[in-house]
Amino acid sequence: MDRYEGSTALVTGAASGIGRAMAERLAEEGCAVVCADIDGEGAEDTAAQLLEKGSRASAIKLDVTDSTAIKEAIEKTIDEFGSFDVLMNNAGIAGGSWEDTIDINLSGVYYGLQHGCRVMAQRGGGSIVNTASVAGLNGLVGTTVTPEELLQGEGAVGTGAYTAAKHGVVGLTRQFAVTYGKLNVRVNAICPGYIVTPMTAPFREREGGTEFLESLHPIGRLGESEEIASAAAFLASSDASFITGIALPVDGGYTAR
Ligand code: NAP
Repeated sequence: MDRYEGSTALVTGAASGIGRAMAERLAEEGCAVVCADIDGEGAEDTAAQLLEKGSRASAIKLDVTDSTAIKEAIEKTIDEFGSFDVLMNNAGIAGGSWEDTIDINLSGVYYGLQHGCRVMAQRGGGSIVNTASVAGLNGLVGTTVTPEELLQGEGAVGTGAYTAAKHGVVGLTRQFAVTYGKLNVRVNAICPGYIVTPMTAPFREREGGTEFLESLHPIGRLGESEEIASAAAFLASSDASFITGIALPVDGGYTAR
């Protein structure tokens, strides 16, 4: 498939997991990809792999909590590849403090939308996909919180922050989709269930952790990064030209129950 021939994407969180799979998928479909991550070496590594396969790619060290840096990353994308058609607002953390989680998982997405929508609108249009979560639609079960931690009063903080941030991402998705619809910028979110990435390793590596998480998904297994990337690549492509403002579960049925 070459749905993205001649297009350029900026992918945040591209050093690892879902972001890396997004970069690979877009590149396979002909897109030039700027791989951005706070892990600059990891972003370089993803870009090097894409270049090796003959794709157009580059890397940038980017902290999504820095609004100016996101604006500059978009400018660099246009300088390097001559266009800016797709933004994957994907970088995120799990298990952080309230402040870090809101800064990275919610404000980071907001800055991407703010600069991304404006620049895309100025240039005639584009498409943005935000990585939310099933935690953007429901409260999470199967997290690291133990009854003991809850009794101590602190255990729910990380999960609550994550769920609040991801619900916020779904809200931002709807609002920016409505605001920029007439300017030819589409904005959608994907809501993954539990995916096999470094982020979920602490949950999976607990005794019985993987089996428990698998039991939450009617499909009976965890998702793979490539399965999230393929849904994101669909939403950002012209195949989804009449889809905007949705929060698409890609979750093996997690939210169907
Ligand atoms: P991952 O493998 O940990 O990848 C996340 C990447 O984002 C890492 O390279 C991380 O760098 C980077 N990052 C962290 N803070 C950043 C910042 N301030 N600026 C730029 N980059 C930053 O996690 P993943 O599972 O692929 O998660 C990707 C997205 O999917 C996240 O938004 C996550 O919330 C969402 N999600 C994941 C799952 C899942 O089950 N895995 C489910 C639902 C939603 P460091 O490693 O150096 O921190």
